[in-house]
This record gives sequence, structure tokens and C-alpha cells, in this order.
Amino acid sequence: RPFEAAATRYTDVPFQRAGASGVQLPKVSLGLWQNFGRDRSFDSQREIVLHAFDRGVVHIDLANNYGPPYGSAESTFGAVLESGLARYRDELFVTTKAGYDMWPGPFGDGGSRKYLVRSLEQSLQRMNTDYVDVFYSHRVDPDTPIEETATALADIVRSGKALYVGISNYPAPLAKRAYELLAEQGVKLLLHQPRYSLFDRTPEAELFPLLRELSVGSAVFSPLAQGLLTRKYIDGDVPADSRAANSFFLNGSALTDGYLDRIRGIDRIAQEANLSIPQLAIAWVLRDPVVTTAIIGASRTSQIDDAVAASQVTLSDDVVAALDEFAAP
Ligand code: NDP
Repeated sequence: RPFEAAATRYTDVPFQRAGASGVQLPKVSLGLWQNFGRDRSFDSQREIVLHAFDRGVVHIDLANNYGPPYGSAESTFGAVLESGLARYRDELFVTTKAGYDMWPGPFGDGGSRKYLVRSLEQSLQRMNTDYVDVFYSHRVDPDTPIEETATALADIVRSGKALYVGISNYPAPLAKRAYELLAEQGVKLLLHQPRYSLFDRTPEAELFPLLRELSVGSAVFSPLAQGLLTRKYIDGDVPADSRAANSFFLNGSALTDGYLDRIRGIDRIAQEANLSIPQLAIAWVLRDPVVTTAIIGASRTSQIDDAVAASQVTLSDDVVAALDEFAAP
């Protein structure tokens, strides 16, 4: 089946500049952490990625070990490229990462130069592409000097295998250090990737002020708290086709009384604003331009459409203030 992208693909999602850089990203992006391993059908995975592209969600976020098994989300994405999307490679913004457990032994985990350089090489092979747009250090490795990690990232940019670099899950002081070490080597940090949602506001305290000061963008992950910020668990049950029923990373123990109170409060605000909870939750993370893009996950194409709709919404100050009561303390 030859793929012809929709002519309207740049009409739906607003784009926003990442900090003070030349890069503009769609305000919503698609992450392939879950739903893109060998546990789902390739046809539905391909449909979701192509649908995202057709709607302007041209930023696809990966990591070396997304699956299961490790590496398979990149292989799936490579197969989608192969199946017709590759002719649009330069319209796509593809990111990957290394930092967490990937292969056995000391070279397959952490922040060493050996791990980062060889992992990126493997990622490019799995995706069968010449370059990624951003290569991230996925986490701080407390046992590797940050100088080694930053120098490896700078050298990766110079090698042309990544056009930009990012860091993920770095607390503010180490993010600042990584920014400075990269700057000393002539490389500007493009993006930080933290977790951020109505249920996790940690970045607001220190990280976002730092990113504003440094003019660095952010690509925030799990803006729907893995699906908790939807109506699907609002009665306290776990639907069979939901992530809480099928993933190692979320289960019914998240549906506490405190959660149910919060989600019911958020639902009332969403209904008054004529939005779905996911639309409200995504528009909420996007309310401040320090957030360049919200990286959602999707198990079906309708979830892409919800996110695209959310990217067009500006919340009123009243709605934002009302949400404080039900957001994470
Ligand atoms: P979300 O919080 O967006 O959760 C996505 C899940 O929520 C979907 O798979 C789906 O689950 C459900 N969902 C999404 N939209 C809707 C909707 N409109 N209505 C109902 N349910 C919906 O993000 P993820 O936790 O999936 O993370 C997104 C991406 O962020 C990852 O793929 C990855 O790229 C990145 N990430 C990065 C990390 C890092 O350390 N840097 C860590 C974690 C994620 P279902 O339908 O199956 O219930």
C-alpha cells in the first residue's frame, strides 16, 4: 500500500519554537513507549503513526528499550518508514534515547560514552535511518562523570548522527551543569524531557524556571498520567482494553479514593468547559510556552484526534485556577 500523506497535514496542530532555537515542533507529539512492541499488530501500529503524521504530529519520540521486547518499538517505526513514510523522513522529527537498561553487562546501561555512542548506532540500524533529530541522555547516571556523558553527546552531534541533543529526567542542578558542559563544546541543549501533568507538577518548582532562564525547550511526557487523566477509570474499574489492564507500568492500584476524588473533580471542570478530560489535561500542560510539546501515547487513532483538538485550545484563567484544587498538591 503506497502511502500518500494528507495535503492538509500542516493545518491542524499549531507549532511552537523549542526555546531559543531554530526548531519548531507540533504542540503535541507521539511517543512509542507503549503499544508499539511485538505485543500489538503491525497494521494498527502503522495506522496510528500514519494518522498522526497526516494530522501534523510529525514528532515521534522513541528510546532504545521501548517495546517489549527492548528495541522493538524502533524496529516497528523502522518498518513504518519502510512501508512508505520514509519519503517524508525530512518532514519528521524523530528522537531516541539511551540511559536505562538495554543490553547485558556494564556497557548496556547508564551514561558512559561507550553506551551512548553504540546504542545510537543500534537505534539507527533498527530504524534504518541515517540520523535522529534529537538524541537524549535518558537519565542521570550517578556513577558516570557528567563530563563524560556531555562530551559523548557533543561528539554525537559532530558525527552528524544526531542533529541536536537533549536530556531527560535530569533534576534542575544537573540539567544546568549539562547545559554548561555542552555550551563549552559549542553545542546548545535543545530539549529537556521531564514528566509533567496535572498529577505531577514537579517541574514547576525548579526545572521550568531554569529552562526559561536558559531558553531551552521542553517535551513533557505522560501528560495524561498514562491514561489516568481520562474518564476510563472514573468508576474505579479497569477496562480490559486499557493500559492498566495490559501494561507492566500501570495497574489498578493507582485507582485510590484520592485519585477518584480528583478525577471526578477534573471531570466536572472539563464538562463545564465543553472539553474531554484528555483535552483539558493536554491543554493544561501547554498553557505555558516553556512546554514546547506534550508527548502523548496512543493505543488508537481517536486518541491522536483528541490530542490534536487539545493543541488548539486555550484555557481561561478561571479554568486553570479551578484545576488547582484537583491537581497534584
Ligand atoms: P500519556 O500520559 O499520554 O498516556 C497515554 C495513554 O493514555 C495511551 O496509551 C492510552 O492508553 C491513554 N490515552 C491517550 N489518549 C487518550 C484519550 N484521548 N482518551 C482515552 N485514553 C487515552 O503518555 P505515556 O505515558 O504513554 O507517555 C507518552 C510518551 O512519553 C512515551 O511514549 C514516551 O515517548 C515518553 N516517555 C518518556 C519517558 C522518559 O523517561 N523520558 C518516560 C515515559 C514516557 P490506553 O488506551 O491503552 O488505556
